[in-house]
Amino acid sequence: MMNRVAVALLAALSGTAGAQLPVDSALAAFIGRIRAVDNHSHVNTAVPRDSEFDALPLDGLLPSPTPVRLRPDNPELIGVYRTLYDYPYADLSDAHLTELRATMVRVQRERGTSFPEWLLDKAGIEVMLANRIAMGPGLAPPRFRWVSYVDALMLPLATTAERAATPDYAALYPLEDRLLRRYMKDLGLARLPATLDAYLRTVVTPTLERQRREGCVAVKFEIAYLRALDFDAASRAAANVTYARYVAGGAPPRGEYRNLENFLFRYIARESGRLGMAVHIHSFEGGGGYYSIAGSDPLLLEPAFNDSSLRRTNFVIVHGGGMYAAHAGALLSKPNVYLDISAMTIVYSAATLAPILRSWLEQYPEKVLFGTDAWGTWDVYAVLGTETARRALGVALTAMMRDGDVTRERAQELATMVLRTNASGLYDLHLR
Ligand SMILES: [Zn+2]
Repeated sequence: MMNRVAVALLAALSGTAGAQLPVDSALAAFIGRIRAVDNHSHVNTAVPRDSEFDALPLDGLLPSPTPVRLRPDNPELIGVYRTLYDYPYADLSDAHLTELRATMVRVQRERGTSFPEWLLDKAGIEVMLANRIAMGPGLAPPRFRWVSYVDALMLPLATTAERAATPDYAALYPLEDRLLRRYMKDLGLARLPATLDAYLRTVVTPTLERQRREGCVAVKFEIAYLRALDFDAASRAAANVTYARYVAGGAPPRGEYRNLENFLFRYIARESGRLGMAVHIHSFEGGGGYYSIAGSDPLLLEPAFNDSSLRRTNFVIVHGGGMYAAHAGALLSKPNVYLDISAMTIVYSAATLAPILRSWLEQYPEKVLFGTDAWGTWDVYAVLGTETARRALGVALTAMMRDGDVTRERAQELATMVLRTNASGLYDLHLR
């Protein structure tokens, strides 16, 4: 932990730097009033110690470096704490943070099930998509909309070989096993059916249909935590054989399992589209010390995006591909591909995010969605992410106005699209 003087000094400096980012003040005020739709979050329910905010929580992984903006001594947090909890201090000393934590617990207890909505109002978010295993107290439509997890449906066979590859895989694969058991229990099934056809008919499709019935607007793959995103065309016949041979026990060879996974990925995507749910796919440079960054390049998804049988499915590249932002932007030329800026709004500064946003807005502004990826102390990250997004949009659009690329009216329209109406159109939220 830095000493108190250094933290306070940093806070002052970052405040100054923020003020110096060139943003048109009338435009900034306009952007500040837009009630946002957050495309991606891991919001908690009002239940203490809620554990259903992620199918693959990263707490079980070996320690790895934390990006600077996520560290508890990030001086930007002072402003966020002030906005949310009337934090009266200009530093982040241990004593003051202890006091803050007590305030947070008290406010959450006092507000009970209304806490999540109270937080949305504070952050200027009208609708938050909740990427969770299940919804719960405090998280109801229309303010909160469910995004489920479907990776587990892709992994019906033993993953012994996969788990051996890295310590992260060893920790994460068993969680998918557990989730598939839960999905089967929800359907009243004790064991997997003997054939792939029966598995699709009695487990995969009914699970997706149940999720849709219970309000899902999208399903999420966080499969980049478990393997690369190259879901190439698969042999159905070979998938049938692999499934039938190993469903009762034993681990399939890696190549055979990949073919089955590829087949199931496309099947799940097709069914989700048929049911009116978008498909979210995690693509970012992390997290975890063994995470495959090369394997999360969204360009690896191009063969799947070019599958003509998947054109009724809308895909969203969640986190905008991170360091592969240019690749994600190029993929927006596919009619059914979108992206969001979640996680970027928390990990990157507004100054770093602004030119990325501009490059996308110059080509396919209808496909760019706002998001935070708020998790853990989600209340804090919802505000930090929203403020960062508004500032980055202000910087990008001010530069576009200055260069004569857009009028002020069009700049306002673009900000509204990214923060609100693009998502409203994609999920039929009927917001104007
Ligand atoms: Zn996430």
